[in-house]
Amino acid sequence: MPRGHAVVPLINRLAKRFLHVVLTQDWHPPDHLSFASAHPGKQPYDTIAVDYGLQILWPDHCVRATHGAEFHKDLRIPHAALVLRKGIHHKIDSYSTFYENDRKTPTGLVGYLRERGFTRIFLAGLAFDFCVRYSAEDAHREGFEVVVIEDACRGIDVDGSMTTARESLDGLGVVRANAEVVS
Ligand SMILES: [Zn+2]
Repeated sequence: MPRGHAVVPLINRLAKRFLHVVLTQDWHPPDHLSFASAHPGKQPYDTIAVDYGLQILWPDHCVRATHGAEFHKDLRIPHAALVLRKGIHHKIDSYSTFYENDRKTPTGLVGYLRERGFTRIFLAGLAFDFCVRYSAEDAHREGFEVVVIEDACRGIDVDGSMTTARESLDGLGVVRANAEVVS
């Protein structure tokens, strides 16, 4: 993602303000359904119909146990207690870190957060208009108080998806803030 790496120093600084941090990691099998390369004749950002609705196709990315799936080399959050891997199923993509794109298959993170007694989450990272947006919406629906730290995110902006994401979050009452709110 263009300038996606630019959020790393800010996220490192932000993470120091939190006692409890969860890292989420896209972790796809090779030939994942979300890869344009797995669909002959399709290009990245084309849309296809799958069992759970429409799915945008992406360039190959974050293939499990390869360099592309690793965290950025400059990310320094040693106190993160959990690394949640998502998108692990061959036939389902996962934007949200709570539910995969069929909107039914849980990743287990809701249970983890509840069992730990957390009621409010702050989100940062990539990509604002997909993984961050859907994570925020699911967390809101599950009853968590949600703050998206927007200057610690970067987006992709496919067909106006940045605007759509902001409108959706605002409509739900999810707070969009900048990093200064936690500094
Ligand atoms: Zn992915």
